[in-house]
Amino acid sequence: MKLPLPTLKSARFFRGLRFRLAASYVLFFAVLLSFLGIFFRQTLTGIYDKQVRELLTEEWGAVKGYLRIEKGKIDWYYDTEDPDEAFIVDRLKQVYLLADSNGFPLEYSEKYKDLGLDRPEDIRAALKAHKESWTIRRSKQGVPYMIRSGSFIDDNHKSFYVALGRSLGESGRIVDEFTWNYFFILPLLIVTSSFLGWYVARRALIPVDDVARAAQRITGANLTARIPSRGAKDELDRLINSFNRMIERLNDSFTQTRQFSTDVSHELRTPLTAIRGQLEVALLTAKTVGDYRDSIVDALQDVERLSQTIRALLLLSQAESGQLAIQWQPIDLVPLAADIVDQFQIPAEGARLTLTSSFPEECPVEGDRIQLERLLSNLLSNAVKYTPEGGTVHVAVTCGAGLARIVVEDSGLGIPQDNLPHIFDRFYRVPSMDRGPEKGLGLGLSFVAWIVKAHRGTIEVESHLGSGTKFTITLPAVVPALVPELQTAADSEP
Ligand code: ADP
Repeated sequence: MKLPLPTLKSARFFRGLRFRLAASYVLFFAVLLSFLGIFFRQTLTGIYDKQVRELLTEEWGAVKGYLRIEKGKIDWYYDTEDPDEAFIVDRLKQVYLLADSNGFPLEYSEKYKDLGLDRPEDIRAALKAHKESWTIRRSKQGVPYMIRSGSFIDDNHKSFYVALGRSLGESGRIVDEFTWNYFFILPLLIVTSSFLGWYVARRALIPVDDVARAAQRITGANLTARIPSRGAKDELDRLINSFNRMIERLNDSFTQTRQFSTDVSHELRTPLTAIRGQLEVALLTAKTVGDYRDSIVDALQDVERLSQTIRALLLLSQAESGQLAIQWQPIDLVPLAADIVDQFQIPAEGARLTLTSSFPEECPVEGDRIQLERLLSNLLSNAVKYTPEGGTVHVAVTCGAGLARIVVEDSGLGIPQDNLPHIFDRFYRVPSMDRGPEKGLGLGLSFVAWIVKAHRGTIEVESHLGSGTKFTITLPAVVPALVPELQTAADSEP
């Protein structure tokens, strides 16, 4: 279904990082401000309530000082000449009720009456409880009053009920005014914060856009380009660095693949050309059966080399793609290595080399027999290949502390230090003036590296140009946990 363009556009807008950042910011701000408003309102109400309570407590003390009840006669005892005292008593009596112990009202102010006189049974209950009580009542006009009530004992130890009140109208009005003003300004604040959020999000995302634009300029054909780091050492710079590193790895991998194709075509073309040449020669010049036979033998040798290359390539790609699983089994490395050394005695003699070995009694490990044989064969074939006449090759196996060590050392050509880091790469051959008559495929050491890794081991190489090379392989004698997924992970890693 084809969506209309504006819908798509607006959907993209709402899903955009900028919108989401700004919206989260505004939402957070709105919730925070609302909570703050409610908190201030509660605090303000609390402060006013406390003030009125303190005032009523003071007035309650004053009532005790000024009020006398003798033989049923209520008397406010104060200096009538003193305007201050008169004012205080007058103030006390503004919202006031005095009732006897039966709950019968003896004296009360008009305002108190307006709030509703207490019921006698309530008064009796309150006197019985001997406790002061605080209530809020509303006048007929809806003004709230705080009432403090409790018992009053006269000189004859008779108890009376007294209630004093204070209006909360003024403080309530201030709190309401604050609330109205605050929540009136709130939307304005939120709108302002939206603009601010939108602006801040835009600023924060400018570098991301820059990075995206720079990334778009990098194509398969242009993998050498890098996104320039901003030098801020922040999250974005870390992202840029990771991205650049990824491009670097991609570039390496692309270069390797290109190199791989070139090498493979070259590797296949050389023997093919040779075969073609031999067959043409046979066709055009051979006269006798012997001539034909010679040409066919030559051609077969090249066919053999061709299939060797293809086999090696196939095996390596199977290993690297995880299709070649290690067949774990207990193996004694000593007879295994001795066998391989024996097999290389004839080629070594042919190359006029001395091939020696030193082995312990036994060296049990867990591993794949075929792969370990292949590992040793590859190392030995290199040693023989790259050691000139009269040289030596030595193979040693040592065992101990849960580790098995295989050393293959030769006194051959050696490898230049600059080339050492690459010798385990696929198709890598040390570019050389003269590296022996037989040109290798550059796959042997890649295979060795894979086998070592699949056996959870390590490989080290030490080499000096002109004086020889030493490969040291360390394998764990017993692989701790042959968990299937671990194995698969190791197998699939190049
Ligand atoms: P190749 O099939 O060319 O031998 P390898 O992967 O086995 O490929 O080795 C890679 C390169 O490392 C070789 O081309 C060779 O130049 C160098 N090399 C390997 N082993 C030795 C060694 N024992 N002495 C000198 N050079 C070696």
